[in-house]
Amino acid sequence: MIIGAGGVGRVVAHKTAAHPEVFGEIMLASRTKSKCDDIAAEVGGGRIQTARVDADNVPELVELIRSFKPDLVLHVALPYQDLTIMDACLETGVHYLDTANYEPKDEAKFEYSWQWAYQDRFKEKGIMALLGCGFDPGVTSIFTAHAAKHHFDEIHYLDIVDCNAGDHGHPFATNFNPEINIREITQKGRYYENGKWIETEPHEIWQDLNYPNIGARRSYVIYHEELESLVKNFPSIKRARFWMTFGEEYLTHLRVIQNIGMASIEPINYKGTEIVPLKFLKAVLPDPGSLGENYSGETSIGCRIRGIKDGKERTYYIYNNCKHQQAFEETNSQGVSYTTGVPATIGAMMMLTDQWMQPGVFNVEEFNPDPFMAKLNIMGLPWHERFDLDLEVS
Ligand code: NDP
Repeated sequence: MIIGAGGVGRVVAHKTAAHPEVFGEIMLASRTKSKCDDIAAEVGGGRIQTARVDADNVPELVELIRSFKPDLVLHVALPYQDLTIMDACLETGVHYLDTANYEPKDEAKFEYSWQWAYQDRFKEKGIMALLGCGFDPGVTSIFTAHAAKHHFDEIHYLDIVDCNAGDHGHPFATNFNPEINIREITQKGRYYENGKWIETEPHEIWQDLNYPNIGARRSYVIYHEELESLVKNFPSIKRARFWMTFGEEYLTHLRVIQNIGMASIEPINYKGTEIVPLKFLKAVLPDPGSLGENYSGETSIGCRIRGIKDGKERTYYIYNNCKHQQAFEETNSQGVSYTTGVPATIGAMMMLTDQWMQPGVFNVEEFNPDPFMAKLNIMGLPWHERFDLDLEVS
């Protein structure tokens, strides 16, 4: 059962429907049923049933889960709903998967503590929760696990590099849910070094990094949630950072949005109506799901790693490039939704085929990366690796 019929939900619907050997019956449920119906019609073949559900409401979720009886709930609505959906899974004994950590509505946190606190309850119930199974978090964490398993005795320096060199033709639009995206990008920067978290001003640290098939792009250190679990699960890491590219035009829009108060998540009273400025902004920005048709260019996301193998220092770069147009031709969605929806589908496959199955709450890097990495290559996100390069990230 898929919850959420946005850009990512559309990709997951297409991809799960294409694999009946694993996903025998599929339900797509979301707040606006008509969006589910549109996607179901687009996929065709009567593969997808649809329903309306408010995922903030546990009893509603429980009722729908009890009537459809899924083996797994694949949550690609918003991070605000992680805990209500986990509660409903606990009540009904159904496995859970998501692509983003729980976020309280009133405070941007980007941390796993709330979801990790479900560990004992999931274990006792004999069900599994797989957290953060998109691209980043998700594939970047699995790339790191692959590097640790096959190429390093100790990982010392990890730089996750995320470039979107796409052009959607709009002066300003976000590639996934604007509320979550703007909250993530406008927060202070943070990276991990020698056992401590170092905080920076937003976009304070930058470098022009070279991306394969793209060239140099200005890249900024921002905080990203997978850093928290990666430094815990790979304790040899001395420094871990996350870099994301932003164009000048994008950052200028963002600065203005912030300066005039439109990025605020504090409700204001407008003529007797409570309005959250960021939610209002979301309503006037282009729907990320609609960007695909005219989106050109590609994304390039990967991990640049320095560490030790057989007593010698080694550098390693593993990445995937994804073309927006190719993603659109296959799933009617742009590359950012595609690079999230494909790994979510593979994660669900790993669980439903018992290759990744253990009661409790887990981040993706805690499992054997090999079967997941093999699926990436055949399900639309092939990866490439390079050894002993000058990694440029200093
Ligand atoms: P969208 O905003 O396009 O879609 C969100 C969907 O969730 C919409 O269909 C929306 O319904 C639905 N929804 C929202 N609230 C509720 C609710 N209370 N009950 C039921 N349905 C609800 O987002 P995206 O598809 O771009 O992103 C989906 C998720 O993927 C997000 O959590 C995002 O953070 C995550 N993500 C993860 C990435 C990764 O690499 N790990 C990268 C990109 C995104 P409605 O249409 O009615 O508003």
